[in-house]
Amino acid sequence: MDGRHCRSRIRLQKFILTNLQKQILLDHAEKEKPNESCAILFGNQVDEKLKLEKIFLTKNEENSPINFTISADQRLEADKIEKESNLKMIGIFHSHPNSNAYPSITDKKFMDLNPVVWIIFSGVSNEFKAFILESEVSEIPIEFQ
Ligand SMILES: [Zn+2]
Repeated sequence: MDGRHCRSRIRLQKFILTNLQKQILLDHAEKEKPNESCAILFGNQVDEKLKLEKIFLTKNEENSPINFTISADQRLEADKIEKESNLKMIGIFHSHPNSNAYPSITDKKFMDLNPVVWIIFSGVSNEFKAFILESEVSEIPIEFQ
């Protein structure tokens, strides 16, 4: 089986967020500058679309402009939110204040451990992009509603 055949079998998904949710993430990224900001995203999957319903703004424990870590306490809190709501953890958001909206080598390592959609906001291009790690990293279209 060649690579092209493999890729064509990946199910196309779409990540949907409202303009208000986008603004909440933008404000969070702006507030945390010059460091990376991060958040955990909860929602539902409907057919091949992931719909964002709840944003948990988290603290970047590393206070770093090139890396982020969500504390163990906040990850426990996220598990609790998931259990108490009818929502699933569908994504992890973080910002790249000084680079493009593509996963870094470190990001790829953590994408492997956290197999959800990774949304990255670039303070350079002001773009949001969504990625998922399957056999390789692929981009998922984002739709703002
Ligand atoms: Zn990153």
